[in-house]
Amino acid sequence: MEIYTEEEERTMKKVLFLTTGGTLSCEASEDGLIPKLQGAEILAQVPELNTLAKISVQDLCLIDSSNLEPEYWSRWAEVIGDNYNDYDGFVLSHGTDTMAYTSSALTHMLINLGKPVVLTGAQVPLSLSNTDARSNLQLAFTIAVSGLPGVFVAFGNKVIKGDCAKKIFSKNFNAFESVNETPVLFFSKSGMKKNLPDRQIVGGFRVENKMEAKVMAITVTPGLKPAIIDFAVEKGYKGIVLELYGAGGINTEKNDFLPAIRRALKKGVKIVCVSQCLFDGVDLSLYPMGILAAQAGVESGAGMTLEAALTKLMWILANR
Ligand code: ASP
Repeated sequence: MEIYTEEEERTMKKVLFLTTGGTLSCEASEDGLIPKLQGAEILAQVPELNTLAKISVQDLCLIDSSNLEPEYWSRWAEVIGDNYNDYDGFVLSHGTDTMAYTSSALTHMLINLGKPVVLTGAQVPLSLSNTDARSNLQLAFTIAVSGLPGVFVAFGNKVIKGDCAKKIFSKNFNAFESVNETPVLFFSKSGMKKNLPDRQIVGGFRVENKMEAKVMAITVTPGLKPAIIDFAVEKGYKGIVLELYGAGGINTEKNDFLPAIRRALKKGVKIVCVSQCLFDGVDLSLYPMGILAAQAGVESGAGMTLEAALTKLMWILANR
């Protein structure tokens, strides 16, 4: 059955709806929430989306996003690249747990992106009456037809740049925060605030989708032994993101990390640091340990989230 008139066929924006699973698509079972709904079933349950765009569906996988692997990003970026010229925008439904990793990874991989690629999901499955999936999908499709270029997370009361998103609530409907950048859109009781990115697109769109999977994050904690770095190197890791205290604190006394950092760098391992604090990021010029870490060759991730820094390192190591 054709759902669009000839006029709509001509004028409506085209969106490719890519689905990957997550809570949005879950159904309750004796074993807990299991991803079940494919794209066509989601669209059938939220038919109003068809008034926003002419939608085609491609189901990429059906997983809880805790089972995400870096090679999935490479495949998904390729799908977006292969369909780039045929659509005005893309919506990717995704589990919330690792959505910020995927939105960051796609931000690095989709170069000179001139169209919206919008990730969304839900805290409560579409199959339940108190779901947030419906409103999140409506927001995502609205952004997907807006022409706003870039990768975004559209969720709850915000639209966030892909590499600034961070999941900060495990249950609250406004699950994501925009870290160190004002959200692109923010809805509150006093109305909508806009901070649209001012992007200059230079050159044609292309996909660089290789990823080095041997990248890990290490959170420094009191009592952690520097040998963890040697262990990572022995296990073949090519990149390490160090999650440091505050503005860039790391132990340089009893459990001095600097010698292990120097050994790792000498073997060609890249080390980037981010802050354990949600906001403001690292400033390696502030304290002696930060200055020493920078002198040893640790690169500052500045205000980047862990998700953005880890995926950028994976991407740089594979593509540069
Ligand atoms: N565990 C789920 C997932 O990330 C959580 C969610 O989607 O909200 O797939």
